[in-house]
Amino acid sequence: MADLFTTVVTSPLARRAGVPQPTQLRRYTPGGPLVEGPVLVTGGGRFEKSMRVRLDQAGVAVVSAAEDTRDRLGAIIVDLSAALDPAELAQLRTIEPGVKRLARNARVVVIGTDPATLTDVTEVTTQRALEGFSRSLAKELRLGATGNLVLAQGEAHDGVWSAVEFLLSGRSAYVDGQVVRVAETMGTNGDSVKPLGGKVAVVTGAARGIGAEIARVLGRDGATVVAVDVPAAGEALAKVANEVRGTAVQLDVTAADAGSRIVRHATQRHGAIDIVIHNAGITRDKLFVNLDEDRWDSVIDVNLRSILRMNEAILGEGGLGQGGRIVCLSSIAGIAGNRGQTNYGASKAGVIGLVTALAAQVRDRGITVNAVAPGFIETEMTARVPFATREMGRRINSLQQGGLPRDVAETIAWLSQPGAAAVTGQVVRVCGQSWLGA
Ligand code: NAD
Repeated sequence: MADLFTTVVTSPLARRAGVPQPTQLRRYTPGGPLVEGPVLVTGGGRFEKSMRVRLDQAGVAVVSAAEDTRDRLGAIIVDLSAALDPAELAQLRTIEPGVKRLARNARVVVIGTDPATLTDVTEVTTQRALEGFSRSLAKELRLGATGNLVLAQGEAHDGVWSAVEFLLSGRSAYVDGQVVRVAETMGTNGDSVKPLGGKVAVVTGAARGIGAEIARVLGRDGATVVAVDVPAAGEALAKVANEVRGTAVQLDVTAADAGSRIVRHATQRHGAIDIVIHNAGITRDKLFVNLDEDRWDSVIDVNLRSILRMNEAILGEGGLGQGGRIVCLSSIAGIAGNRGQTNYGASKAGVIGLVTALAAQVRDRGITVNAVAPGFIETEMTARVPFATREMGRRINSLQQGGLPRDVAETIAWLSQPGAAAVTGQVVRVCGQSWLGA
């Protein structure tokens, strides 16, 4: 989607003039290497050993210092989960030679202890400091490299590995400057190439855009996909369903019986319902003072109330069981707010409340509920945004480019994995560390 501005800023002349250039991001290919180059693992925390073992199992070379290899580093994992005092934060400085030797599209992952599980003021202070460090370092990294923080509860080795594996891989290309919390729940993936094998996944709003890409990525990862969209999008919907060898259901998600129809279709046609992605969403932008009733009601109904209604059936008798997954689409507009989007911002912030509250309610049933909040994603919707606003949206993030629908889909696919059982009630931003609401 190169336009005049992109062509100009990426021209040889602009390069010579030192205009910052977006880097082609490393994206996931099934069966490909987890990370390109050896991984430096350090910090002395309680996860360091298990991370080394799992990296080794994944065929990744592990080193203890940047000087131990002549290759550029694919990633640095620094585990400060055991740090109790701010003086110990100085250990973060030991990764400096490694940061200088990071490869293109490398990763820095900091592991800490979730401050919510601590009570000692000094310990909480120390662990909270990791957030400011990793978000700031992420802003300094260049050439497609990202920096993220994993905060663990107790001995959450499975959960930490699931998050670390995602963050190291090309699946997380546009996830930058984020904090992922993991609980002690156990959960591991069977097949590394088809982690969703045997699962039945429902995707709403699947006829185009991000929803169609979610259907493709879930299908690629082994899920049987039920693609849902309005009857008016029937033709495009059928195409997506055929492409992923799934089935299509034409319905409006705001219909009173939408949830029960989805559950009935999935269980009758495919024998189960394991994963639900609430992706269908609309915008009806207007300044607040010019907003009419229809623009307000339709956005709240499609983006928010329909999810609450459908969840009643999805979580009811015959719906999601043990290991079930719900992922909702939020937006950075729901975090930072956006001019002209009071209705949309309200709906997408509401989604965050929904996942937080619902996750706690269904935790003991082994069901996780999370949200993904995309930033600027290259879609038909954003292609229609006025030129200056669009270019601004593309550039105001640490990776200096828009994300792809695929990046959102990859994060959703990760949260849907059996291995991600320990991640619930979270909002993962797929925004390249956007400056908005950071
Ligand atoms: P899109 O408009 O391209 O696609 C949305 C799909 O949802 C369409 O196929 C549409 O027919 C379907 N849909 C709308 N109302 C429906 C209803 N009542 N019942 C069933 N299906 C319905 O949008 P997109 O850009 O792909 O966005 C997908 C999701 O991601 C939305 O929830 C959106 O708010 C969110 N999001 C997008 C971006 C972005 O940059 N594109 C950023 C943040 C969040």
